[in-house]
Amino acid sequence: MTTALLLAGCGGDPSPAAAPSTTTTARTTSSAVPPTTPPTTPAPTTTEAPAPTTPAAPAPVVVLDPGHNGGNAAAPGVIGAPVPDGTGGTKPCNTTGTSTDAGYAEHAFTWDTALRVRDLLVAAGVQIVLTRDDDTGVGPCVDVRGQLGAQVGAAAFVGIHGDGAAAGSRGFHVPAPS
Ligand SMILES: [Zn+2]
Repeated sequence: MTTALLLAGCGGDPSPAAAPSTTTTARTTSSAVPPTTPPTTPAPTTTEAPAPTTPAAPAPVVVLDPGHNGGNAAAPGVIGAPVPDGTGGTKPCNTTGTSTDAGYAEHAFTWDTALRVRDLLVAAGVQIVLTRDDDTGVGPCVDVRGQLGAQVGAAAFVGIHGDGAAAGSRGFHVPAPS
């Protein structure tokens, strides 16, 4: 296969392959010189550089932040420590999150959701950075999570939570900097 391709590619040098393109030049110069013109003109015409490789656009980076963590409840001293809140004040490093009445913890829900979203976005060509590596650790603190988007040049930062509410309540909330 490769030899066949090489032969075809190198076929431009000998005169038989160049014959069709040189017919016009042969007509303009006419008369006495048809056999000598083919070697000079056909080579630089087209076949040399048809492949200017356009560099692929870099995949966008999205940070997924699954709220809380599975080890938070066992480390109240760590997650209760004050950290900068981004507006000049402080807030606790992290919290345990909530859970359903049946005991399904928010940290487990956010972790499961983040992995599902990650797989879908990776399949779509997006680079994913998670704010935590598993669902058994402690933290990281909210300030560390919040800075990660800028650190990795993320196009978007998506925080995932499953907040508690009164039975029958539905909806979502959108936090915004004040
Ligand atoms: Zn939450």
